Amino acid sequence: MPNLMLNGGFIGQVSGVLFDKDGTLLNSEAYLFSLAKKRIYKAVEVFMQLQSSESEIEKLKSLLHEIYGVKGENLSPSGCLAIASRQDNLLSTATVFCLLGKDWPLSMSLANKVFSSADVIENQKKYVLNKQTILPGALNFLNKLKGANVTIGLISNDTCSGIQKFLHNHNLQETISSFWSADHFPKKPDPFAVEGLCKELGIEAKQCALIGDADSDIEMANAAGIGISLGYLGGWTQPPKLNSQPHLIKHWDDLSLEEP
Ligand SMILES: [Mg+2]
Repeated sequence: MPNLMLNGGFIGQVSGVLFDKDGTLLNSEAYLFSLAKKRIYKAVEVFMQLQSSESEIEKLKSLLHEIYGVKGENLSPSGCLAIASRQDNLLSTATVFCLLGKDWPLSMSLANKVFSSADVIENQKKYVLNKQTILPGALNFLNKLKGANVTIGLISNDTCSGIQKFLHNHNLQETISSFWSADHFPKKPDPFAVEGLCKELGIEAKQCALIGDADSDIEMANAAGIGISLGYLGGWTQPPKLNSQPHLIKHWDDLSLEEP
């Protein structure tokens, strides 16, 4: 197994590396920020149709900004949109409608309407997805791992089709051996998600590194018995603040491999 080096220092040996996607391999902030704005716009639209007052609409906007993690012109790396699955974001949105006095069936119906109509706008602007770029140095590191026969997996709360699009758009189908999505059971951050992916890849969790940009990624890795947990900080305008004390990477070039 090759040695994994961080800024030239040995941190362990690895036979596999599991990556988070959004904010770790992929610069997703602009795309997710634009998605948040579309969902908020559509939520206001459906809420106005219910003869809501001005103050109720302001409250709706403020709660959605908070939950999605919209901070000015940036998206928080620890907000629901950056971290959680589409389904979790849908439930959060329904909860906001509920907090504003709507019953649960109506709240769910409104949230579904908001998400599907935001999707329609999103699908008309396919170029936005293509604008998401791989973060600097990530591709080089992935190629180094592949060259050293280290198994590569992806563990993300994006949907299965979202991950397949990502792999296709960035030509990574041959590099990333397998993935675990929000459509798998259990989804991350359940530690059994890591166990499931390791089993699929045929590797031992303790011989793996897991790299993510959220405390939930690192805590999941630790609970699953992953050998080396790393936090990547370079994917957001406001870098994530990680309390779970992983090794920290500011740039993908901070990592290298050495023969043992
Ligand atoms: Mg992430």
